[in-house]
Amino acid sequence: MATGKSTVGAELARAAERPFYDLDHAIASEAGCSAEQFLATRGEPAFRALERTCLTRILDESENSARAPVIAVGGGALMARDLRLRALDECVVVCLEGSPSELARRAVGQGGRPLLAGPNPEQRARELLELRARNYAEAHARISCEAPLDQVVAAVREVWLRDELAVAAGEKSYGVQIGRGIAAARATALLDKTAVCVLVSDLNVADLHGPTLEAAVKASGARLVRSDFEPGEAHKHIGSVESVWRSALAAGADRQAMFIGFGGGVVTDMTGFAAATYLRGVRWLSFPTTLLSMVDASVGGKTGVDLLAAKNAVGAFWQPSAVVCDVDFLRTESNRGFVSGLAEVVKTALIGDPDLFDLLEREADRVAERDPDLCIELVRRSIRVKARIVSFDEREGGLRAVLNLGHTVGHALEAQAGFTALTHGEAVSLGLVAALKLGEILGQTPGDLSRRTRELLVRLGLPVKLGQAELEAAAGLLGHDKKRAGASVRFVFARELGRVETQSIALSDLASHVITLAN
Ligand code: NAD
Repeated sequence: MATGKSTVGAELARAAERPFYDLDHAIASEAGCSAEQFLATRGEPAFRALERTCLTRILDESENSARAPVIAVGGGALMARDLRLRALDECVVVCLEGSPSELARRAVGQGGRPLLAGPNPEQRARELLELRARNYAEAHARISCEAPLDQVVAAVREVWLRDELAVAAGEKSYGVQIGRGIAAARATALLDKTAVCVLVSDLNVADLHGPTLEAAVKASGARLVRSDFEPGEAHKHIGSVESVWRSALAAGADRQAMFIGFGGGVVTDMTGFAAATYLRGVRWLSFPTTLLSMVDASVGGKTGVDLLAAKNAVGAFWQPSAVVCDVDFLRTESNRGFVSGLAEVVKTALIGDPDLFDLLEREADRVAERDPDLCIELVRRSIRVKARIVSFDEREGGLRAVLNLGHTVGHALEAQAGFTALTHGEAVSLGLVAALKLGEILGQTPGDLSRRTRELLVRLGLPVKLGQAELEAAAGLLGHDKKRAGASVRFVFARELGRVETQSIALSDLASHVITLAN
């Protein structure tokens, strides 16, 4: 409150030639009195209920609008998590903030505010800010309202144009930026010039693209330390992480250090883990360079290494400070790697984005050519679905399980192939075919969806052939599924395009079905 949101919002809308809504005005016209009067006379619960109704209406009207409006909302409007997550998903949310003394001074100057009533408005403002800090931290950006108006408007506009996806995780929230040729400029902007920056990569990525980020780190003024290891899953072990720790230590990296993971999922998983553990936790940035690491590994905060044959057996949840997906890096990815990444895109579409599925069907040829604009769209849509899911369930409480679609049988097939004959994405493709077919048999999945998905996977160059011998070997490995609970597993069924459901199924039943799925 008293941050000047209505003035900033109106000015921003005018400059961008967009419609402007002031939520206080919408409330006033609904209530027949000013928002403040309504709050003062009817109390906060009634006010919040009306505020929610009005904001929901504006969001409903603005959804899919070609000319997205600017909406000024009060500081309490997005305290309800469901509404906040909706706003973060559909809008760019900027929190204007000020010091308690400044906010109290402005509020008193404007005749006071019901929520700051009492002998000490500054103290009240401080308490409210503390209470709401975790929620405000989830905004796309926080901008001080104490600068001159034109500067505040320009700063908000810059955030708007950046159009990041927000991953809401309380104080550990971060943004994902997706675009072409954006890596260098973003790296420079994200680094503090006083920090040590540990740039972690594998030798392939370092050779192909290392100079781009190196120059950007140098341009930021930060001190650059490089730590590269041999490429591939075989090097995803604690020894590689130790080499990152050692490089950081030798360079005198302190708790202000920033690690950058620049590579595929192996590199970003290990960099995140090195950052989670070095000096009990330092900041890190993720610059994924494969389709899989962009659409899947970049969001969710899972970091770690393999231990002997156990994939990702040692790790931590440790969110990056920011993720930058520059699709120009995808041009050099191997064909097999890129196509494998598409399996996760198809999975994501099945889970939560029917339009993405249609887009893949319509544009399969341009996808194969890695058209950059299309890649931006695929990455953006996939991350948006995953961000929505992990924002509700940061630590795998339950909802995240839907991301496992196709993975129960997929993992078992990957394991029976010794984790080498099939890439993870190829195994997921086969796992999707199996999960949809199984859903069909059990009356969960429409046959048409199963057929469409199989055809799409074929067009994208992914495998769909389920062999009898492989299924039999995989059936014996289903118990290794991470989502196993005792003698059963939570299996994810596709119910319709964009909607999945998990159901517990006995491992023995699952195994006996799996061996019938050969095609
Ligand atoms: P990867 O990191 O091994 O990369 C595959 C290969 O591509 C490597 O040889 C690499 O050097 C090369 N490469 C990377 N970027 C390139 C580029 N732009 N041009 C040319 N070559 C390039 O593997 P991946 O497929 O990116 O990721 C797989 C890993 O991701 C697995 O370890 C998996 O566990 C992990 N993962 C993690 C999550 C998560 O939530 N944290 C999610 C999915 C997968």
